[in-house]
Amino acid sequence: MKKTYLFTPGPTMVPPEVSLSEAQPMIHHRTPQFSQIFYELSEDLKYLFQTKTGEVYTLMSSGTGAMEACVANVLSKGDKALVIATGKFGERWAELCKCFGIEAVVVSVEYGKAAEPSKVEEALKKNSGIKVVFATQSETSTGAVHDIKAISAVVKKYGALLVVDAITGIGVHQFLMDEWNIDVAITGSQKGCMLPPGLAFVCVNSGAWGAIEKGDLPRYYWDFRKMRKNLKNKTTPFTPAVSLIMAMKTAIDMIKKEGIEKVWARHARLAHATREGVKAIGLELFAGADSSNVLTAIKAPEGVDVDKIIKKLRDETGITFTGGQDSLKGKMIRIGHMGYVNDFDIILAISALEKGLYEAGYPVQPGKGLSRVQSLLVAGK
Ligand SMILES: *Cc1c(COP(=O)(O)O)cnc(C)c1O
Repeated sequence: MKKTYLFTPGPTMVPPEVSLSEAQPMIHHRTPQFSQIFYELSEDLKYLFQTKTGEVYTLMSSGTGAMEACVANVLSKGDKALVIATGKFGERWAELCKCFGIEAVVVSVEYGKAAEPSKVEEALKKNSGIKVVFATQSETSTGAVHDIKAISAVVKKYGALLVVDAITGIGVHQFLMDEWNIDVAITGSQKGCMLPPGLAFVCVNSGAWGAIEKGDLPRYYWDFRKMRKNLKNKTTPFTPAVSLIMAMKTAIDMIKKEGIEKVWARHARLAHATREGVKAIGLELFAGADSSNVLTAIKAPEGVDVDKIIKKLRDETGITFTGGQDSLKGKMIRIGHMGYVNDFDIILAISALEKGLYEAGYPVQPGKGLSRVQSLLVAGK
């Protein structure tokens, strides 16, 4: 019998209570009933981003829709942007800028590493007149995490706006919108939020409004001005994904109940145990010292067809890991551990990894990684 476990870096596993909320009878969106839920959710989302001065808009799209919305709203014709691209998702910011005719300077580093704030500063010094810097907190394609606090300090020194893709950062890593002086940040529903795909959230802080008001790039569905105006009336400009919004209210209630600091700490603990388990098996981490708590990216061992291992495990057991994307295909196994994941899920994941490797003929003694993970999670050492 197969049983599905999504150890994937999005979509992630959905708690049953969230699924049940999504299945509630439909309500009309222009009603006090919907407005109340939407208003409460929008307030709760501020907690998720840790903002008091910002506002959070709910977009009916996957994360990329929110990325496009940021570019369309914050920039104007002739503006110059700087993109920190350390993987596929960072590169997406550059593609979006190009799509809107915006010139973008790209700071890139070797895949698997995070960009140093000093490298960002160098680029800002060399290229004057940068209006917006686009960053990625957790680069899901390589498993590396960025020091957004330090990057923000550099960006502010040069008077630019900072837009952060925190799609897999929010709800996993510490993220402090106001304290770190971030102008715009985004997340998506199918990552740390424990929801099915379909919603994205944009947090706009007070400092970004000047640019948004003056913006002259084409925007209609994604116009933040319309979203702000409608949120004042506790609603959305167009028909919202009512069911997903009801489900998100339940998910955020769960996060509030656990406490955001505890949520971050849980991810740190699970990620640490996973990394240690992987090392005990004798494997190497792709992102080394820059590894995020979102997922564990493992370097494919020489001569091992990791995609075949992943496919076999998924088809035979239902336990799902992912491989590398695009140029990283065949080069890694990624074990996602964000959202609805606890100690025993990690024990299961490592044991499945051992099974996959063992059956592929890799010299691993089943139990080696597992015993390391267990000693960390059960005995705390
Ligand atoms: C998942 C993800 C996205 C958005 O991808 P969608 O498929 O559009 O949801 C963007 N950035 C990062 C870092 C991600 O992990």
